[in-house]
Amino acid sequence: MKAATKFIHAGVHPDPSTGAIMTPIYQTSTFVQDGPGKHKGYEYARTQNPTRTQLQNALAAAENGKYGISFSSGLAATDTLLKLFKPGDEIISTNDLYGGTYRLMRKVWEPYGLKFRFIDMSEAGTISSYITPATKMIWLETPTNPLIRIIDIKACAAIAKQAGALLAVDNTFASPYLQNPLDLGADIVMHSATKYIGGHSDVVHGCIITNDKEIADQLYFLQNACGAVPGPQDCFLLLRGLKTLHVRMQRHCENGEQIAHFLRRHSKVNKVHWCGFEDHPGYAIAKAQMHGFGGMISFELKDNTLAAAERVLSSTKLFACAESLGGVESLIGHPASMTHASIPRAERIANGLADSLIRLSVGIEDADDLKADLEQALG
Ligand SMILES: *Cc1c(COP(=O)(O)O)cnc(C)c1O
Repeated sequence: MKAATKFIHAGVHPDPSTGAIMTPIYQTSTFVQDGPGKHKGYEYARTQNPTRTQLQNALAAAENGKYGISFSSGLAATDTLLKLFKPGDEIISTNDLYGGTYRLMRKVWEPYGLKFRFIDMSEAGTISSYITPATKMIWLETPTNPLIRIIDIKACAAIAKQAGALLAVDNTFASPYLQNPLDLGADIVMHSATKYIGGHSDVVHGCIITNDKEIADQLYFLQNACGAVPGPQDCFLLLRGLKTLHVRMQRHCENGEQIAHFLRRHSKVNKVHWCGFEDHPGYAIAKAQMHGFGGMISFELKDNTLAAAERVLSSTKLFACAESLGGVESLIGHPASMTHASIPRAERIANGLADSLIRLSVGIEDADDLKADLEQALG
């Protein structure tokens, strides 16, 4: 099945009780049983809910996976995944990581005895030197936030396999339309579906997809046992968002390309980070493992100061200054004073996050209007 058909049809079926073509919102906490233990597959809504079941099947299909497990947020998904491990287990992670994931690993899970190493994975070969007998998982994000670096998923999968460790990929930035890590050898895919999958900035949600039945069963157990489950209304919004993912992503890619080239030509702009430039260090890998380059871009100003960046951020009219990404509307953010403000300046700069670095989540509006907005804000 081609992507356009898959995102609309895969995993979902008309409602068996009424024939409703769209999955109803089963806004109920419990399900009446014919007698004790005699039920129709649904007992209590933390354990199962029909709206969630359809979403989980649709998300699994979107990633070419067998099992989908949904959570109340992206971080709840990652938190539940980390419960698969035991004190002393080691996880190798990227140093260019979503801040909330870093905080979850360092501040929540390290005190429980999990060990994390945050390393540069832009040369996959270097990962091997960090592997020990205790290494149980490699966790990565690609493209990374906010510097749009690319990590070779296939190469990491081979390294993980050789080490007897799992490879998990946070695929939020690419979306299941642009990149399918399970097809490239990953064991686990995670999404903050809050972003591109939902696509309309109106829902917070997370999911994990895997082909491994044992991992899936453990995660279904934890989903019920720990209870970070999404409500049925949220599941409905995600089902709705997923149906247009391919159309939205095509436009995100087209607009991203136009804005990236526009910025690169602009006299006030110093450096533009976008993985579709042929001279981007990860271009060849991105071209091989992604189906497009997406709408996430970051750039530095020639006037490399916090004040100059703040002037641009407070001058855009279409690009809204906000955290998050992946919605139909364009957003603009300033990592140094927003998402990465808690990192000491010296460390931030050493990691390549300049004072003037600005991040764009390019939406699906008209590209000329978006360029005009940036033009006036840069002026
Ligand atoms: C937003 C985000 C998360 C966290 O997801 P929430 O839904 O906000 O909990 C994780 N990873 C990446 C790359 C994100 O952008």
